[in-house]
Amino acid sequence: MVQINSDYHSLSREYIFPIIDQKLDELKKMHPEATTINLGIGDIALPLAPSIAKAIADAAWEMTKKEGKRGYGPSHGYPFLREIIAKEEYSGLGITTDEVFISDGINTDSANVEEIFSQNASVAIPDPAYPVYLDTSIMAGKKIHLLPCTEENGFLPTSPKEAYDLIFLCTPHNPTGVAMTRSQLSEWVAYAKKHQAILLVDSAYRQFVTSKDVPRTIYEIEGAKEVAIEFCSFSKSAGFTGLRCGWTVVPKTIKPKEIYQFWNTRQTIKSNGYSYPIQRGAEAAYSAEGKKETREQIAEYQTSTKILLDGIKKIGQKCYGGVDSPYIWWKVPAHLSSWIFFDLLLKECHLISIPGVGFGKHGEGYIRLSGFTEPRIAHLAIEKISQLF
Ligand code: PLP
Repeated sequence: MVQINSDYHSLSREYIFPIIDQKLDELKKMHPEATTINLGIGDIALPLAPSIAKAIADAAWEMTKKEGKRGYGPSHGYPFLREIIAKEEYSGLGITTDEVFISDGINTDSANVEEIFSQNASVAIPDPAYPVYLDTSIMAGKKIHLLPCTEENGFLPTSPKEAYDLIFLCTPHNPTGVAMTRSQLSEWVAYAKKHQAILLVDSAYRQFVTSKDVPRTIYEIEGAKEVAIEFCSFSKSAGFTGLRCGWTVVPKTIKPKEIYQFWNTRQTIKSNGYSYPIQRGAEAAYSAEGKKETREQIAEYQTSTKILLDGIKKIGQKCYGGVDSPYIWWKVPAHLSSWIFFDLLLKECHLISIPGVGFGKHGEGYIRLSGFTEPRIAHLAIEKISQLF
């Protein structure tokens, strides 16, 4: 008889988006005239940069020509994109083209990376965190240890006394919106070296970093190339959430050396390549026009985030993050739970947030607000929130 993967039964997370949708439907039934402000989902709010759209369209047209015909692409991504990423993102850090593996985004690779490690490898995961790390580790039947991110440790995971094999890190961190400094990342690199562990670093929000002492990549840290795999994406930096393109860096110097070989092999076997037009679009994000347009978009999200952060602080509320990331981690007023405060903001301000508990049990007592919105909407949100306090 067929045996199913019973680890799926251990997925006990409450899936918050269907609950939020249901609450939203109820609000709309009661107040059909209500205009809702969505600061919940961390998806892009601005249209695709024209230079990127043009590069995608041109690439598709190129494929209509006999000489431009393209079938399956390379499993590791087209060299033109791998090269420009190595050059533009890792200048002076010694990351080479063949250490950059193109992907369809961080989600897939961060979910799949564990398969090149032993089934017995233990995994340490920040809590609260982007849900994929925990859920996929549960699905893979891994031994899991949670690293609490609380007010006491500045909402970032600190290295435990015990030795774990794989450690997921996310910096700037979603959902708490704070980022690791050079010295905090150096501590993790030292931990990984001491315990011969591997850091799995999600760098989805690297382009939002503004603080001088916050590295944009783990490879700015001495020794990181021996212990870290980095996941990156065009999703939030260039509006690719609906296009899908990212990359993973696996250095050749990582130890044991099989990690590089196995990832290389894994991609060769499991990938038939990624869309040619989309990779041309990603390449265009590095053109002069593409850089200008995407920087303007990021600047707009940063402005919205600042409006929210300043506005919430002005009314005497405690909130964190929002400086090196587009997320604000709002400590809910005393004695309320994440969900109760979510309900209050929805009912009174018609504002959608995300209850912190949806990202892990240590997210209880917080809500996340997303700065992926236009500044005028951020102002409107603050106007409504201010009326509540
Ligand atoms: N990692 C983090 C921390 C995220 O917040 C998100 C999306 O919200 C992702 C990864 C997903 O990235 P991608 O679109 O590249 O799959």
